[in-house]
Amino acid sequence: RAGSDVTITVGAKNETFALFSAEKPHDWCIPFSVDGNPPPALRWLFNGSALVQGKYIRTKIVEYEHNSTVVHGCLYLNGPTHVNNGNYTLLAHNPLGADARTVLGRFMDNPFTKPRLPSGPVDRTASPPSLQVSVAVALAVFACLFLSIMLIVLNKCGRHSKFGAAVLAQDDDIAMSLHFMNLGSSPQSSAESKLEGLKTNFIENPQYFCDSCVHHIKRRDIVLKWELGEGAFGKVFLAECYNLIPEQEKMLVAVKALKEATESARLDFQREAELLTVLQHEHIVRFYGVCTDGEPLVMVFEYMKHGDLNRFLRSHGPDAKILDNGNGQSFGQLTLSQMLQIATQIASGMVYLASLHFVHRDLATRNCLVGRSLVVKIGDFGMSRDIYSTDYYRVGGRTMLPIRWMPPESILYRKFTAESDIWSFGVVLWEIFTYGKQPWYQLSNTEAIECITQGRELERPRTCPSEVYDIMQGCWQREPQQRQNIKEIHSRLQALVKTPPVYLDVLG
Ligand code: ADP
Repeated sequence: RAGSDVTITVGAKNETFALFSAEKPHDWCIPFSVDGNPPPALRWLFNGSALVQGKYIRTKIVEYEHNSTVVHGCLYLNGPTHVNNGNYTLLAHNPLGADARTVLGRFMDNPFTKPRLPSGPVDRTASPPSLQVSVAVALAVFACLFLSIMLIVLNKCGRHSKFGAAVLAQDDDIAMSLHFMNLGSSPQSSAESKLEGLKTNFIENPQYFCDSCVHHIKRRDIVLKWELGEGAFGKVFLAECYNLIPEQEKMLVAVKALKEATESARLDFQREAELLTVLQHEHIVRFYGVCTDGEPLVMVFEYMKHGDLNRFLRSHGPDAKILDNGNGQSFGQLTLSQMLQIATQIASGMVYLASLHFVHRDLATRNCLVGRSLVVKIGDFGMSRDIYSTDYYRVGGRTMLPIRWMPPESILYRKFTAESDIWSFGVVLWEIFTYGKQPWYQLSNTEAIECITQGRELERPRTCPSEVYDIMQGCWQREPQQRQNIKEIHSRLQALVKTPPVYLDVLG
């Protein structure tokens, strides 16, 4: 940027940000990015006072972005303990401006805090400690004896299945075996009813329980580089990962860090990891595993160089500059053939999901990722979102729905099926041929709901050949059964990729 003030990213203000391994063993990194011209001077505060840097705490610029004034760096802390927990503020200033960002660093809990003793005056009439210990031991022995007798009696009665040990074993069996289970259709077993709470994300999707299949990656093998984006779970970082695949000592990966480790967030995290382990296809983003030794919990994915498809489409629209990215690949404005290639790849991923009877429920270009050579993959399977929040409509409480991508039956009755995914695929096609416009962008959420439920259709985008608009309209049949199936759509798109229709855009 020519002469500009300063902007910093170090995570949102006051956010709890547990940190993980960096360059050397025991080194932790607080990642930051700074943009400014002339290059700004950097200074750190710890809990509001100047942070003294030296051998164990130091700032390092890790990477200078090519052709840009953005720099990425780390505040390295070597072997931090609970005394290093606190607020870290980065101050950056140049002659044109200044900026500051604060994150909360939490490395470990204080190992010396004892359980709280009852407050108030000491009761001097209480029995001496040795007597207390004897009474406690006697009580414990008595309780054990009583329990053993009870267990023997109950075993003889053959009623063990109602008791803890037996039920646990049952649950374990379920947890170990990988199977599809439709929560909606069969009478609920005790294990199924325990899963009631998970329904928000995975209802109507097959449930996969394969805890032992999830690959675990060591935290010291993940070396953070910088932030790529933010999603519902938390931040997404670019990182280097060691010892992931035999052919390469280290490789670039995208790492999703779980924002808050509440019990329900952990449960969702575990579920998503199990599900992702099972979904393997060339057009589904590759999932490498999780890192759960310490905080934050992270998921490790293949790195998709060009980020999410919506952003990619927007930056390759009519105003796109011809940029050479240094690899000899240059993407200017997307051509018809490239748009068809993108659509065909998403359709291929959807054919795979449909073959597993998996209902995505949130298919949209924001949930697809673009890698090198225009490879596109479906990359997101969670339902709730907080970025792109204007794409979602809050329906009472916390439920956010992507109404602009939903067919009438999903809006009216919350019915999500393979056929409702087809409708969304039609909207994705429309997004591709409008270079990432928001469907019904001219309408408010309530107006969009009215239009969709009354049967109005999105208009044919200017650059869209009638052969492709026909496919979109096939996806938008009001009756779910009348919609084309995804295999047919995929074949039609494949045929169009081979012989693209001749199309002249009529400039209006
Ligand atoms: P969440 O599932 O938590 O909502 P997202 O998957 O939407 O998170 O990720 C947020 C952003 O991070 C995306 O919009 C994208 O820009 C970036 N991102 C996510 N995964 C990758 C990846 N594998 N490679 C490159 N960028 C990614």
